[in-house]
Order: sequence, then C-alpha cells, then structure tokens
Amino acid sequence: MVGHIRPDGDCIGSQLGLALALKNEGKKVSCWNEDAVPQKLRFLDPQKMFERPRSGESFDCVIATDCASFERLGIAGKHIGARKLLINIDHHASNTRYGDMNWVVGREPSCGELIYRLLRCANWPITKEIADCLFTAVSTDTGSFQYPNTRPMTYHVAGDLVKRGADLAKICDEVYQSYSLSRVRLLRHVYNSFRLTHDNQIAYFWLKKKDFARTGAQTADAEGLIDHVRDIEPVVVACAFEEVEPELTRISLRSKNGRVNVNEIAALFNGGGHKAAAGARIPGTPISVQRRVVAAVKKALDQSK
Ligand code: 5GP
Ligand code: MN
Repeated sequence: MVGHIRPDGDCIGSQLGLALALKNEGKKVSCWNEDAVPQKLRFLDPQKMFERPRSGESFDCVIATDCASFERLGIAGKHIGARKLLINIDHHASNTRYGDMNWVVGREPSCGELIYRLLRCANWPITKEIADCLFTAVSTDTGSFQYPNTRPMTYHVAGDLVKRGADLAKICDEVYQSYSLSRVRLLRHVYNSFRLTHDNQIAYFWLKKKDFARTGAQTADAEGLIDHVRDIEPVVVACAFEEVEPELTRISLRSKNGRVNVNEIAALFNGGGHKAAAGARIPGTPISVQRRVVAAVKKALDQSK
C-alpha cells in the first residue's frame, strides 16, 4: 500500500484502514510512503504496518490511496517497479489514472469514504482499529466536516464508524489537540508575517528553511497553518509558499468561494488537487514564483465576479 509524499490524515487513514482489512483477510501486506507517518497519526499504526521495501522486492499487487498522480508517490513509486497489478483508489478530480485499475471519484470528499464503501461492499469486517483509521481520514479531509463537499453520506459514514468503535476522544486528542510547541512557534511566524492583497481577498505567507530551523519545526508541522489565514473574513484565497530548495517552492492554495477553483490555478503550475484545496511544486526564484502565483489568483478572482 502506497500513498503520496507528505502523507496527511486521509492518505495514512485510507492506507492503514485498507491494509488492516486485507491483513484480516489473510493477505501479506505492508505500507510505505516517501515521508514518515506524521507524529500525530502514529497512534493509528500500533501494528507497525509501515516497512521500507527491500531492494528488488516484488509485489502481487500494489494499491495507491489518495494519490493524484504516479509522480506524487515520490520515492515510493521507485520501490514498486516489480509488481503485477497497480490499483489506484483516489478522490482527486485531477487524478491522472496511472493504475492498471483506477477507482477515482472526484466528487468524494475523502479517500477514506471510498475505502469505507469498499469494505462494506466486500463484506470485510470494520474493526475498531479500522474505524479509527477511516474516521481520521474522513474527518481530516473534510476539515472536521466543514468543507462544502461534505455530504449527508459523509455524516452517515462517520456515524457508522463511531458506532463500530472509532475512538472519537482519542482521535480528536491526537489529531487536533496535540500540536508541538515548535508548530506553535511556526504559527506565530505566520501571524507575524502574512500579507494581504487584492482588497484583502488574497492572503499569503512564506515558510523559509530558516523559519523551520529557528522554530525547530518539521515540514510536517506546516500542515494546516494555511487554514489560519484562509479563515479570515475578507480572505477568499489563501496561499502558502514553502521553500523546498532555493529555486523550488511548494505552494498550497485554499479557496472559500465555489467560483474560484484553486485546482485550476495549481494546474497552471503543473500541480493539482481539489476545487477548494490544491498545491504544486514550482521551480524558479522565490520572488518570481510569488509574482506568478499571486497574479494567477488575482486573475481567477476577477474572472469569478
Ligand atoms: P496541501 O496544500 O494540503 O499540501 O494539498 C492540498 C491538496 O492539493 C491535496 O489534495 C493534495 O493532494 C493536492 N496537492 C498538493 N500539492 C500537490 C502537487 O504538487 N501536485 C498535485 N497534483 N497535487 C497536489
Ligand atoms: Mn485526500
């Protein structure tokens, strides 16, 4: 089971949820991603399902969850060359259908909900452990059931997962209420430095390598910081710029307006994602990346009127 670089709650939750179900069905299964499981999600893996593939290891089947393109698998993609079947299960509208079998539902708010449906159809037991994984997946990718793509079915799925033993108190404590102090220092940097432009409709900030070094934060700590500027009233589109290398920038985009599709903006820079949340990795000097992205966001905002 593989997922995307910088795995999030939906990626890890979907991956582990399906891996545990397959294991219960007697399959020999392991999980791997380019980046480690973020600290706040480690409680989902008491069975230690993540293991680095041996060099030359071969697989009867590889399943990718929550991953929009083969490139987004990063190094994990290089470890799965010797495979029979590649199955791609995802909910990104921008998915490139890179599998031998592709189950891609662009309107689904989380990959976790797809895995839930799969387990129900297959009649595979949803144990407490699996329920924790899938609840985490659904909850994190819907912004705690707040994003507008959250549907009645999403609440039914979440309710059923709680009925089957998902430990809400534990999940909320681990995922939402256990931020490290270094992340809080990074958040302070965001509040101190974010910029507003275009009538306060665009908010953006930079995370440079020196900001991580100064605060002691890891790159995984950056997840969710963008929500703090997105959530400001006049802001319609939020953008986070993160220095990966001196001439390579990772951008995250968020939109609060249904008519401003950030997936389309990210696609201009060879990225992707969803209408309300998307990203890309862009080569070039930081200042030119910022100018081009902010200009593209302004254009999209003007066209949305
Ligand atoms: P985030 O901003 O949280 O990293 O990502 C938001 C959404 O955009 C996620 O669904 C993620 O999969 C997608 N995304 C982020 N970065 C990239 C990228 O570089 N390429 C593509 N295709 N999608 C991305
Ligand atoms: Mn997802």
